[in-house]
Amino acid sequence: MTLAIDAKAKAMQRDGLDVISFSVGEPDFDTPDHIRAAAKAALDQGKTRYGPVAGEPELREAIAQKLQRDNELCYGAENVLVTNGGKHSLYNLMMALIEPGDEVIIPAPYWVSYPEMVKLAGGKPVIVPTTLESNYKITPEQLSQAITSQTKLFVFNSPSNPTGMVYSPDEVRALAQVVVERDLLVVADEIYEKWLYDGATHLSMGAVSPEAFERTIVSSGFAKTYAMTGWRIGFLAGAIPLIKAATTVQGHSTSNVCTFAQYGAVAAYRDSQDCLQPMLAAFTERRQVILEYVNALPGFTCPTPQGAFYVLPDISKLGISSLDFCSKLLDTHHVAMVPGVAFGADDCIRLSYATSVETIQRGMERLSLFVKSLT
Ligand SMILES: *Cc1c(COP(=O)(O)O)cnc(C)c1O
Repeated sequence: MTLAIDAKAKAMQRDGLDVISFSVGEPDFDTPDHIRAAAKAALDQGKTRYGPVAGEPELREAIAQKLQRDNELCYGAENVLVTNGGKHSLYNLMMALIEPGDEVIIPAPYWVSYPEMVKLAGGKPVIVPTTLESNYKITPEQLSQAITSQTKLFVFNSPSNPTGMVYSPDEVRALAQVVVERDLLVVADEIYEKWLYDGATHLSMGAVSPEAFERTIVSSGFAKTYAMTGWRIGFLAGAIPLIKAATTVQGHSTSNVCTFAQYGAVAAYRDSQDCLQPMLAAFTERRQVILEYVNALPGFTCPTPQGAFYVLPDISKLGISSLDFCSKLLDTHHVAMVPGVAFGADDCIRLSYATSVETIQRGMERLSLFVKSLT
């Protein structure tokens, strides 16, 4: 469904129409220069051959150090598998871990690929709907109630795509307590950890306690933090037997990640993090602009997101399905957004603000006109 809207928006653009898109989930910045330079240098140095399946030793080491430094997670290089993006990390994990009949708990609204990956692995996604009132966060009670004897894994994404919500350290601790008490595994998708606003803080679930650490697998990557979506580099970190199993899956499917690209990722983690500041400043400003528009729209209810680069307003008061809303908006006002139904949230639409302030303003003016035409 989302691809249909996206394909239509692109076709309209090819036909010369001025389509404004809020649908892309990727930073609009270029990859920082020093990261590109490091990959170029590696290419010139002949880093062009097959490498170890689990990743270049330098990169596995740099990732382990980053997890210690930023996340208080005591992993070594042997706990890390370098993958072709965060998506591939999750896919390898599902393939390695999930057996037919296993249940995987996924709070909704969710990132589109989680349930599909679980199904590909033969497992059963158990979707737990959250509410606007709880700021789209799963509560410890909800998590507890969703657990059965078949439950294998809990998928935890904070900051969240599509909601932009960030679980506070106390909320993370409360969920970790359920994970430990009920002896689950949890995969923490932390790909947006650096995009935080209004003083929000990110706590890795694995940093809560040694018991939580044992049960946590981290999935993350470079795409969203360093504007490296096209590079395809991510990682999985966790207990060695699980990392070995996921490495076997990768070894028989894709083998190693593009060798010279991995050296760009080494630079991203080893060198100064100053490049993040201007990007954070831009996202902060854009978020302010888009929220002012969204909060002024009749029929829109939008909890304030504290992370990532999305807003997910509830439009149920308008009495129109998310797919109808998005296709009409695209047809009549040439603005592309993703219908919430794709994320298990038909009451909502998702807007990405990874685009310029000027584009946001032009697009939101059109959205206002469209909403007025509905009401
Ligand atoms: C973008 C994204 C990913 C993975 O991105 P890659 O480009 O594969 O690294 C994983 N999880 C969420 C929630 C995302 O939004």
